[in-house]
Amino acid sequence: MLPFKLVYSEDYFLPIGTHVFPAEKYKRVHDRLLEGKACEAADFVAPRPASDDDILLVHTPRYVEKLKTGTLSAMEELQLEIPYSPELVRAFWLAAGGSMLAADHALNDGIAISIGGGFHHAFPDHGEGFCMINDIAIAIRRMQRDEKIRTAMTLDCDVHQGNGTAVIFAPQPARSPGVISRNRNSQTDVFTISLHQENNYPAFKPPSSLDVNLPDGLGDNEYLATLGDAFSMGLSKFQPELVCYVAGADPYCEDQLGGLSLTIEGLKRRDTLVFQMAKAEGIPIMVTFAGGYAHRLQDTVTIHSNTVIAAKEVFVRK
Ligand SMILES: [Zn+2]
Repeated sequence: MLPFKLVYSEDYFLPIGTHVFPAEKYKRVHDRLLEGKACEAADFVAPRPASDDDILLVHTPRYVEKLKTGTLSAMEELQLEIPYSPELVRAFWLAAGGSMLAADHALNDGIAISIGGGFHHAFPDHGEGFCMINDIAIAIRRMQRDEKIRTAMTLDCDVHQGNGTAVIFAPQPARSPGVISRNRNSQTDVFTISLHQENNYPAFKPPSSLDVNLPDGLGDNEYLATLGDAFSMGLSKFQPELVCYVAGADPYCEDQLGGLSLTIEGLKRRDTLVFQMAKAEGIPIMVTFAGGYAHRLQDTVTIHSNTVIAAKEVFVRK
C-alpha cells in the first residue's frame, strides 16, 4: 500500500460530450494505476462534494447563484468553453471536495494526489477555459478557515498561465494607508508561482507572485533548470505550510493546446524534481492534474499516471 492517498471518484467525469478536454482521463488514470500495480484499490479515497459555503470562500454569491440556477448568460457560457448543465456543476463541486480532501491528507502524510482538479482558470466571479470553479483556491481557503494552515504556495506547471489563481490570491492593498499593519505578512498568505508558455492562452496574464514566461518549443533540460530555479526562488521568499502543485500534462511536445516540447520522460522528471524539493523542505504537497490534450489520449494518461509513480518513488522509503 502507498504511504499516501489518491483521491478519486468515478463522478469526476465531466459530462461535456465530445470535447478536446478528455473527460474520461480520470477513470483511465485510475484504471491504469491499478492495472500496472502502481497502487492498490485501498490507496484510493473518495471525496464528497464541497458545500456551497466552501465554494463561497472563493467565489462571489452572484456567480454561485448563476451556476446553481442555470442562469449564466450566453456570453458567460461561451467563455467557460464547456457546455453548462446541472450535472457539470455537480462534477465541479465534487472536484473541489476532492482537492479539499487531498489538501487535508497531504497535511497528514506529506503528500496526496487528487486524480482530477486543477481548474486554475476560474475567477471569483466567472469561469473560463474549461474551469467552472477554482478547486485549488477553494481547498486552500478551506484549510485556512479550519486553521489547519495559515499560508500556502501554488506551483502551477500547466502549460497555460494560472490566471484565475493569480487574481484570487493577488495581494490586497492595505485598507488604511498610513496605518502600520500589525502583521506585515497579512497581505500575502498565498504565494502563487506559474510556469507557462508565454505565447498561449490566456492572452492577458494577471500577475502571479512569480510568473515564468517560457518561450515556444522549450525542451526538457531548459524547462527543468528553470523550474528548479523558480521553485527555489519562491521558497527563499516565502515558506508555505502547504504546496499545491498543479501538474498539467499539457507542456507535452505532442499536446494539441500546448507549444512546449517536453517529453513524457521529461514530465516525469519534472514531477520528481518538485516532489524531491518539497520533501527536502519538509513542506506537505497536494497535487491536482489540470490540463492534458495530447493527440493520443493514452499519452495524457501516461503522463498523469507517471505523476503518481514519481510520488511513489520519492515518498516510499526503500
Ligand atoms: Zn492547460
